[in-house]
Amino acid sequence: MFRQGEVVEISTSTQVFRGVFIKEEKDFLVVKLSNGYNIGIAKRNIKGEKSLGMVRREENTMKKLKEHIRGKALPLISILHTGGTIASKVDYSTGAVIARFTPEDIIGLFPELRSMASIRSRLISNMLSENMRFSHYNLLGRAVEEEVRRGVRGVIITHGTDTLHYSAAALSFMLENIPVPVVLVGSQRSSDRPSSDSAVNLISAVIFIINARAGGVFVCMHESMNDSSCLVVEGVNARKMHTSRRDAFRPINKGLVARIDYENKRVEWLKDLEKSRGEFNIKLFKENIKVGLLKAHPNLLISELECFKHFDGLIIEGTGLGHIGISETDKLTKENKRIGELLAGLARRIPVVMTSQTIYGRINMNVYSTGRDLLRMGVLGNYTDMTSETAFIKLAWLLSNYKKEEVRELFERNLRGEISDRTEKEYFLV
Ligand code: GLU
Repeated sequence: MFRQGEVVEISTSTQVFRGVFIKEEKDFLVVKLSNGYNIGIAKRNIKGEKSLGMVRREENTMKKLKEHIRGKALPLISILHTGGTIASKVDYSTGAVIARFTPEDIIGLFPELRSMASIRSRLISNMLSENMRFSHYNLLGRAVEEEVRRGVRGVIITHGTDTLHYSAAALSFMLENIPVPVVLVGSQRSSDRPSSDSAVNLISAVIFIINARAGGVFVCMHESMNDSSCLVVEGVNARKMHTSRRDAFRPINKGLVARIDYENKRVEWLKDLEKSRGEFNIKLFKENIKVGLLKAHPNLLISELECFKHFDGLIIEGTGLGHIGISETDKLTKENKRIGELLAGLARRIPVVMTSQTIYGRINMNVYSTGRDLLRMGVLGNYTDMTSETAFIKLAWLLSNYKKEEVRELFERNLRGEISDRTEKEYFLV
């Protein structure tokens, strides 16, 4: 077998691949092609293979890249890294999976960027996104603010996909009147073959930024299972809808912002972006704010709610139009009544908000008696259509920045596009 860093020529019945050998997996070989991307070649298709010797790094490459990055002609884009799959790559000289963050590395990894943008790049954190805390949103928000004040054309944030939509919502609320696009990208890499979705997502984000005429916070990820296009979704409406597919990020109760035709490097606009008129301003999270997120379910126990007595706010991800079992309908439902009493006490003291586990659709607590009882208790969120994740982030951010009475009022008011005016049928399963 080849050694890492060896230049190889591998032929199948239809093609000849020449590149740098990276590693061998059970069913395929991974080779880095001269355009910088990795491909997997299925062993069963290999008809011939030969070594062309060890790779020699072109001495001038780093110098040339640095000169390019200093060049003023191209739009300046800043890439902030927070970790996840997209930030790591196999280093062909050592075989290790490493995270690389300098602008030179980024252009080395994504060679197409060379002709598209001047890149600034820095590491904010290097973590799996499930470990994020409000403090990380503040770090990230401040870093974006710094880049924007420096005059960049846009900011790309590389992020683990699991909680990418929470961060997108957090930044949407934090960065008031953001004048340039901030685009979160991730990578859903399938485990059975090397994937190029990180490159497609990142370069599509660059195409979007270069063409956008207004600011905002967006998510840019694959449209389908192939690499031909990406979708841009508003940060407050995005949701991860699949554990592993590359096209997992979809807008909920909202339309798309744009489609990026990756092959032709073009943007198809599906929505007009509105230029913000106010002054750019950042409003951070209070790091010790306590907001809970409870999923309603049959046979709920009062002990599942009791801890929220010490919280500042609570989201209930209810059933259907916005329900949770609070009624004693027979002798088997006494616990529900106690839950209702506890909830009424909570709703008097802290904002308690209803969202729906149906994911799509709007809360309407006027239809059934349960909803009307919840409304009488002061449960918020009627007629809103935010995802539970966005509602959670919004409530925490409001509690961090506004007085209690203002929080109740602002929660049901559309601040960043998180609540839509109308329920359009074409917004379902976009
Ligand atoms: N749990 C990881 C994360 O969200 C998954 C890897 C990835 O999506 O990049 O960071």
